[in-house]
Amino acid sequence: MECDPEGLTGPLPQRTVPRDHHQVCMKGTKSYPVRCIELSGEVGGSISCNAYLVRASPCRNFGVQMQEDGSWTISNTDLIYCNEARAHFSLPPLIPEQPLLVLEPTPGFEPPAPKAA
Ligand code: SF4
Repeated sequence: MECDPEGLTGPLPQRTVPRDHHQVCMKGTKSYPVRCIELSGEVGGSISCNAYLVRASPCRNFGVQMQEDGSWTISNTDLIYCNEARAHFSLPPLIPEQPLLVLEPTPGFEPPAPKAA
């Protein structure tokens, strides 16, 4: 498992639940309503992760990834999941035209259309 009993090189075991035989995920991310135990603040406002440097591997593998050249990418699949979560909180979708995001080109991929106001 990827946990560290001291929380220095991985998440504290008591802050996680098993994801499979090798990985853990943070408590609150596998239950409903979803609310990670390490999330501070309110979604849509100012939020932060209390365990960012030692977050579980599903957290590290999901979403926006910083590249060695300083650019950012997000997989099309994660973008869809991210926008589904954002819609749940009535937040507008992230769209490829936003300067922060550099999408991996996938032929035929159509990002979700923004909701009409
Ligand atoms: S990135 Fe941080 S706040 Fe988000 S799910 Fe992982 S541990 Fe929780």
